[in-house]
Amino acid sequence: MTTTVGIDIGGSSTSAVAIGPEGQVLGRHQIKTTRVEGGRQMVSSAVAAFSALEVDDCAAIGVGVPGQVDPTTGQVAMAVNLGVGAESYGLANEIEAALGVPVTVENDVHAAAVGAYESLRLEGQSPESLALVSIGTGIGAGVVVKGALLRGARGMAGEIGHVVVDGSGVMCRCGQRGCLEAVAAGPAISRAWPKGVNGTAATALFGAASDGDAAAEKVAGRIAGHLTTALIWLAATYDTEVIVLAGGVSGAGDPFLEAVRQQIGRRGVASELAARRLRPEQVVLARVDDPPGPRGAAVLAANHLPQTRESPAESKQKT
Ligand SMILES: [Zn+2]
Repeated sequence: MTTTVGIDIGGSSTSAVAIGPEGQVLGRHQIKTTRVEGGRQMVSSAVAAFSALEVDDCAAIGVGVPGQVDPTTGQVAMAVNLGVGAESYGLANEIEAALGVPVTVENDVHAAAVGAYESLRLEGQSPESLALVSIGTGIGAGVVVKGALLRGARGMAGEIGHVVVDGSGVMCRCGQRGCLEAVAAGPAISRAWPKGVNGTAATALFGAASDGDAAAEKVAGRIAGHLTTALIWLAATYDTEVIVLAGGVSGAGDPFLEAVRQQIGRRGVASELAARRLRPEQVVLARVDDPPGPRGAAVLAANHLPQTRESPAESKQKT
């Protein structure tokens, strides 16, 4: 009866999915994010992606954007790749005015964590807690505990990209030295392995490491080691049952996952405590056939409908 639409607006592309009442996918569409001045580009991208779905009974729309989001007001700030800086932009109101459907806005990584949780729930698993780590141009995490998204006081929970993992590492654009993002995100991988002719540098690097290239193994081990440090923080802080790797770098697929799992395994050999805290098999890749970003946005929209104004799993557990 209730159809919701989830839209994930990224710097280069915008993906939309229509979700039915049982969680089934009714349609998908992806477009290039439109290029117009300021926050209007988020509105025009969302409207174009929504219209392409041709859904005529949509009850609510959820939108994920990279930036600082106030879900209660639908205001977005610091979505710098999408034309919004420190001054907040009323994204939810603008899209609502354009489409006439209630709109919920959330940080894209937070939405993706909810989407990954929902995918597992639909598969018959309901982990107690889940963290999703998005590794792309930047690095961020979202945490879901007992089905509820942890937003934090200012919606910034999980901003792990600018935590220092290597005090003697390269300078980060934020002014600190050796931030996780500066040593392990996409641009750092491109610098460390500038051989990504076909596909991304991450695909080239982790592929070569998996094929036994000694130089690639060394670089991949270092980068996967930094990421592993961050995964161990998450496991230590939230005791997460599942950690999902998402974002452009994780598009390198199984060779990337194996490199990370190998590093986790090594820490476990050295320390029984580390081995108990995070086992390699707890870390998985986000589903490619059901991207967590748009699905999570749709779930958040459904949960903001008046009759189910609760967190995702709280409402689901009752049904
Ligand atoms: Zn930084």
